[in-house]
Amino acid sequence: MPPDPSPRSELPDGHVVPRFAGISTFAHLPHSRELHDVDVAVVGVPFDGGASFRTGARFGPQKIRAGSSLLRAFNPALQVEPFAEFRVVDWGDVACSPISIEDSFAQIEQALGEVVRAEVFPLVLGGDHSISLPVLRALAKRHGPLGLVHFDAHPDTWDVHFGRKYSHATPFRRAIEEGLIEAHRYVQVGIRGSLPKASDLDDARGLGVTVLRTDDVVEMGLNATLDRIREIATGRVHVSLDIDVVDPAFAPGTGTPEVGGLSSREIVRLVRGLGPLELTGFDLVEVSPPYDHGEITAILAANLVYELLSTRVGRMRPKG
Ligand code: MN
Ligand code: MN
Repeated sequence: MPPDPSPRSELPDGHVVPRFAGISTFAHLPHSRELHDVDVAVVGVPFDGGASFRTGARFGPQKIRAGSSLLRAFNPALQVEPFAEFRVVDWGDVACSPISIEDSFAQIEQALGEVVRAEVFPLVLGGDHSISLPVLRALAKRHGPLGLVHFDAHPDTWDVHFGRKYSHATPFRRAIEEGLIEAHRYVQVGIRGSLPKASDLDDARGLGVTVLRTDDVVEMGLNATLDRIREIATGRVHVSLDIDVVDPAFAPGTGTPEVGGLSSREIVRLVRGLGPLELTGFDLVEVSPPYDHGEITAILAANLVYELLSTRVGRMRPKG
């Protein structure tokens, strides 16, 4: 098939407008809340009221946007031009309350609901990991119960944290309880680090979740890990990526760092390998710019969003 002569996304020519110029949107995409004819929307969720250690992920969306400024049209690894294939906009940020997790969840679910009802694929920039629960509420309302690929150093399937049901440590236990995701189609990838209790990973497995530790990924290799992910995450699937799945040497700007994680090259390969999955949305969380150095975490996060979008080419039908 010949390439589409008219790219669907309106991007400035990087040889006319330098990539460090202009108002910061994701990849220089137009900012728009008009979702008619839009295929994909980047949605910022600047909320970190669910974080238990270092905060700062509320500044994630703005720094990931800044970190995306050098993204270019063609992805040679996947041989695709995602912005030519899809009409992609930067929707801006959900106006969530910094002092109420319940109010924020309602605001996030409402905003994501608008996006999902317009049949627009959401690329969500967090925010701490608590935001994945209202994101999943909006997605499951549209698509029914989902499978989940969850990249993280932490299981995030704890029951309560500081006596509370809602936090960045509990979103996926709640999502299972609420019927938003199905545990037998849910895989955690990259788990590592010290734990509050010896039984924590068995507790996650007890829910029916598959837990692949970083050690398992290293032992199996990336291709076998991807095979296992595809075996488990069947049907309609959400992907939630906590940047702390990556080693703090590559992604120091995060709230709960754990040593001995994946390299940026490994996580890029894993995300590229998600192509065959039937995805309904993506969130990337826990980028905490105050702890970043040289913007390396924000730049990695921006590239992972780009790679995930690239996997949709040929798998998601553009509108119109
Ligand atoms: Mn997490
Ligand atoms: Mn984590």
